[in-house]
Amino acid sequence: MAQEKQADVYSAIDSRDVDPAVDAREAEIPEDDRYSRQVLFRGIGREGQQKLAAARVAIVGCGAIGSALAALLARAGVGTLRIIDRDYVEPSNLQRQSLFDEKDASESLPKAIAAARKIAAFNSQIVVEPKVDDLIPANIEASLEGMQLILDGTDNFETRYLINDYAVDRSLPWIYSAAVGSYAVTLNVSPGQTACLACIFPDSPRGMVETCETSGILNSAVNLVASIAATEALKLLVHGPNVPQLRRTLLSFDVWTNEHAEISAASPRPGCRACGQRAFIHLAGEGRPHITLCGRNSVQIHERQRPIDFVELNRRLVPHGTVRHNDFVLKFWHDPYEMTLFPDGRAIIKGTTDTAVARSLYARYIGS
Ligand SMILES: [Zn+2]
Repeated sequence: MAQEKQADVYSAIDSRDVDPAVDAREAEIPEDDRYSRQVLFRGIGREGQQKLAAARVAIVGCGAIGSALAALLARAGVGTLRIIDRDYVEPSNLQRQSLFDEKDASESLPKAIAAARKIAAFNSQIVVEPKVDDLIPANIEASLEGMQLILDGTDNFETRYLINDYAVDRSLPWIYSAAVGSYAVTLNVSPGQTACLACIFPDSPRGMVETCETSGILNSAVNLVASIAATEALKLLVHGPNVPQLRRTLLSFDVWTNEHAEISAASPRPGCRACGQRAFIHLAGEGRPHITLCGRNSVQIHERQRPIDFVELNRRLVPHGTVRHNDFVLKFWHDPYEMTLFPDGRAIIKGTTDTAVARSLYARYIGS
């Protein structure tokens, strides 16, 4: 009873600010008061909330930053979230990947699936489209089709440059976010208006990627950058790319030293390979290497058109080590290596950073 009364008070406050034109569309708002505190915020309002409900956002990579972005935007009422992730949940993720729990890790659930299930438990009113896949030039078109904003939750520059090429080519906004150690960095890219990722980093800033393994990561650096990026996403979705509050800088912040910096990204760099010359080399898939996953002693093997029968493979692998599978992944332990296979033939091999060793293991146990 007390709760109902409280809800009445909030809806009364809420209606004071409502524009009559917007009021006419009030029936479209769900009757519950799930978003009442957010609607009260003047930067959003009822009209803004409706735009969020109609919004379609892709989150590429659902690790630490991707989890936090997905949780924030799902709770904020973004109507459709497409979550693309190639990886599975492991115990070492739980320190910072806030959408996952111990059960997900013990079952080695794909992160996209685990994220969709978790979100459905706290917001069943939005649509989550999980895609267990690696974003590559061959599938980026299908993977990002129909999306109006792309958020970066990846852990590598190869995929970020691919997203940048695609976004610049299609004039789609995207937000770069990264965190390593206690350091976090983010950039909003509005193609044609601001600098793009290749304007600022013409080549992959390898140092940062490589230190991920040795520097570890603080979950607070993750949540800081995800909060900033999710807020920029709300501004973009509600008010479009010209809203003055949208940040036009590359922002970095170290949560341990409190050092922070901003570099202007207000205009494109003349001669930029991507947004100037429109040479989309990453979209064309030129020179794409095998990816060594960040923060882990692992190599991923990209394999296409190799559908795998887990039951049959399980039977073949049992004499060689420990095997376990569910509908989504098969795990095979062969000391000192651990192989995780997906139904399309893609594999993540842990225990080496040597692509040749990984290739050979794959050829030996799965097929060449
Ligand atoms: Zn550029």
